[in-house]
Order: sequence, then C-alpha cells, then structure tokens
Amino acid sequence: MNYEKRITNTMRTEVLVIGAGSAGSMAAIASGKEGRKTLLVERYGFLGGTSTTILDTFYGFYIPGSKNKKVVGGIPDLLLDKLKERKSMLLRPNTYGAGTGVTYDPEILKVVWEELVVEANVDILLHSFVADVVMEEKKVKGVIVVNKSGFTLIEADMIIDASGDADVTALAGYPYDGIGSHIPVQSLTTTFRVGNVDEQHMKTFTKNQMWEWMKEANQSGKYHLPREEGSVHITTLPSVMATNMVRLAIPDPTNIIELSKAEILGRRQALEYFRFMKDYLPGYENSVFLNFSTQIGIRETRRIIGEYTLTKEDVLQARKFDDAIVLCGAPIEDHHNQAGTKWEYLEDGETYQVPYRSLIPKDSVNLLVAGRCLSATHDAHASVRSMGQCMGMGQAAGIAASLAVENQCRPIDVNVEMLQQKLRSYGAILEG
Ligand SMILES: Cc1cc2nc3c(=O)[nH]c(=O)nc-3n(C[C@H](O)[C@H](O)[C@H](O)COP(=O)(O)OP(=O)(O)OC[C@H]3O[C@@H](n4cnc5c(N)ncnc54)[C@H](O)[C@@H]3O)c2cc1C
Repeated sequence: MNYEKRITNTMRTEVLVIGAGSAGSMAAIASGKEGRKTLLVERYGFLGGTSTTILDTFYGFYIPGSKNKKVVGGIPDLLLDKLKERKSMLLRPNTYGAGTGVTYDPEILKVVWEELVVEANVDILLHSFVADVVMEEKKVKGVIVVNKSGFTLIEADMIIDASGDADVTALAGYPYDGIGSHIPVQSLTTTFRVGNVDEQHMKTFTKNQMWEWMKEANQSGKYHLPREEGSVHITTLPSVMATNMVRLAIPDPTNIIELSKAEILGRRQALEYFRFMKDYLPGYENSVFLNFSTQIGIRETRRIIGEYTLTKEDVLQARKFDDAIVLCGAPIEDHHNQAGTKWEYLEDGETYQVPYRSLIPKDSVNLLVAGRCLSATHDAHASVRSMGQCMGMGQAAGIAASLAVENQCRPIDVNVEMLQQKLRSYGAILEG
C-alpha cells in the first residue's frame, strides 16, 4: 500500500518533540519557554513516558555516598515544586543504590506534566505514533504520524527524538548501537503495586532478609522467582507499596513479537512475586494486588551513534567536558538475567558531565536526541539513564533546538557557551 496517498493532514512547527517521557516533556517545555512554536507528539493518552507508566521514583537528582549532593536543577525543579504543592512527593534518603530518590504519585504526575507543558505554550498531540520520516537528503523534513484521524505529515525546522528507542533516528537511517550489538541489552521489568499492607509489620524485615526468603521459596520448589533480589518500597499513598522485582530478558525489545510475549510473561511473573510476598513477608498477609505497570519497563534498546559517545571511563573517572549540559553521579547499574544486578560506583562525592555532542546523531542536520537513547556505551548508559539526567538532557535539547532555529544552524553549530548560559539562567547545575 502506498500510504503517502492517505496523508490527509499536514502540520508545521518550529520544534517537534517525539515522545513525552521525562526527556521529551522537558525538551518541549524548554523549547516552549524559549518562545519557539513547539509540538509534542506522544503515542499514549497522557504524558510522562516511563515516569508515569512504570515508575514512581526519580533517581539522579541526588548523588549516592556521604555527600547527598543535588546535581540536577532548572526546569526539572518546577516539576518537583508542583508535586510538593500537591503533597504528592517525598524524599527517600539513600546513601547506597542510586542515592536519594524523589518518590511521587504517578497519577498526579500525569497532570503536573500537562500543566507545565501547557503553561509553556506547547501544543500536544496524544494517541499519535510516529511511523515514518520524510527525508530531504540528510535532513529530516518531517515525520509521519498515525492516529485515529489517519496519517498526518508534521514538518519541522528541528526535531528532538525523545522516543526512548531512537525511533526517528533509526527511521532516518542514522546508525545506532544497543540492540543487535554483542552486548545484550539490559533486562526488562513489569512493576506492580500492592495495597492494604500493614506498615508497622512491614518494617520488621530487611532487604537482605527478603532476598533470603526468595531463595528459600525457590528451593522449596513451590515458587518460581527468576530474580532472587529486587526491591519493594513505600509510596506517597498510605499502605501502598511499589515493587521492582520481575526480570525478563529478550534480545530486542523493539521486536514486537518478542515484546508481546514479554508483556504476558511479565504480568505472570509479577503475580508469582505477589504470591510469594503474601506468603512470606510480614505485613503482607492481607495485602491486595493493585496494578501492573501500563507496559513492561524497557531499560535499553537503541543508543544513537553521536558526535561523542559517553564511555565507562568517562563515568568512573568523573570526566568533565567543555560542552557539558548535565551532571551525573549515579553508579553504573546494570541489570542482567544471569549475572544479576552489577553496581559500579564513582569515587565518593564525584560527578561526571554529559557532553552536548552525545545528543547529536553523527552527521545529522536538524536532529537531536534526549533521554535514554543518547550516545553512550552500554556501561555508561547504565549510569546516565536515570530520570533526573533524562530531564536534564531534555531541557538542554529543548534550548539547543531553539537556538538552532533562531540562528538557522545545525545543532552541532549551536553556540555552546550561549546554550550553557541559558541553562544556568534556568538554574541548571553544570558543575559538581
Ligand atoms: C524497570 C525500570 C526501572 C527503572 N527504575 C528507575 C528509577 O527508579 N528511577 C529512575 O530515575 N530511573 C529508573 N529507570 C530508568 C528511567 O526510567 C529511564 O531511563 C527514563 O525514564 C527514560 O526516559 P526517556 O524520556 O528517555 O524515555 P521514556 O520515558 O520511555 O519516554 C519515551 C516516550 O516516547 C513515547 N514513544 C516511543 N516511541 C514513540 C513513537 N514512535 N511515536 C510516539 N511516541 C513514542 C513513549 O510512549 C514514551 O512516552 C528505570 C527503567 C526501567 C525500565
């Protein structure tokens, strides 16, 4: 079928953002605040991506270790302020793991994202999936969006690919790493929430104890728990706990047949963990199953090949860059099926910078990425993918796209000092 004949609508914008996760929503807000005509396209009926479909805790705002330093600021702070105003946020101090977490109510967050995006004068197109691109040599002239209204061509001066999976970059024919490489992508997790937990009793056991019970349950032959670790944590709601336990590995989470099977197995596994929790964990005897994540959580797929690729050495040696746009002190947290979760930390109190070039697909003309599809090796990605950093990348990409439109230049030719100056004027933290 020649679908081009079916295109009934054409839209035009200055900055087009694909994907409304932590990175994309933040990019759209930043571009809108800079006065650019901005359109945000999202396949679901609400904003937030992984922040509202799967999770409830922002990591990356604070570094782990003895310093508890805050390293993400600027427009992301507006999001935290709004959550705080609505009493839908709490800090979970944590010196190990990924550092202090900002736990929020994901349902309220959907509205908070909308408020910020609308206040920045950004247009939103929900229920819309980007299925193709229209190229003019190396330039992405526009994208083809499919929704219930049919096929729409959206043309833009600058496009920010914040789809998580680098869909636009791949469709445009730019190279990527991740899926298809010799290092398997990280495992997937269906998260779930449990209600009516007795909060007093629940505090009587440690994580290590829970892991021991998981082993014991598996050894009894009566349970099948593929991961004998994982976590359960408090939420902003009374007697409601959230989990990160399920573990599934598939070679390519963008392969829709593999992904469909993973969704089904993920929910099955989640119920098995819930059965274990009710039987083994004090305080969970009368608990009820509340919900699965909207979809299975995907940690890693395509990582673009950018003008710079962030490496493991950059992370562990706390490297600094002239074109820094984001700061990060999160450890390398690598989830794998067989080896379990591998943690590698920076020196206590240290941070590395994320260079602007890692958001620019190599040799591209009018394309930027933001979020987990940035240019990073598998290990570096396992550190920099927290939502705090994704928001930081988003705000930088939004401002950079705006500068590129204003100066009619390619993202690589954007004045980096001007970009950094603007980032600082919003309150972004670039130095640790
Ligand atoms: C199980 C799991 C647990 C994690 N735990 C934590 C945690 O506790 N704290 C933390 O900070 N980080 C955590 N992470 C990492 C973090 O959540 C992600 O790296 C981050 O949210 C990625 O943000 P993003 O904006 O790049 O992508 P996403 O949030 O995935 O956003 C991408 C958006 O694009 C949309 N989209 C995709 N393709 C298209 C298309 N073709 N057309 C239109 N729209 C499209 C999607 O619907 C989505 O809204 C976890 C990740 C997983 C999977």
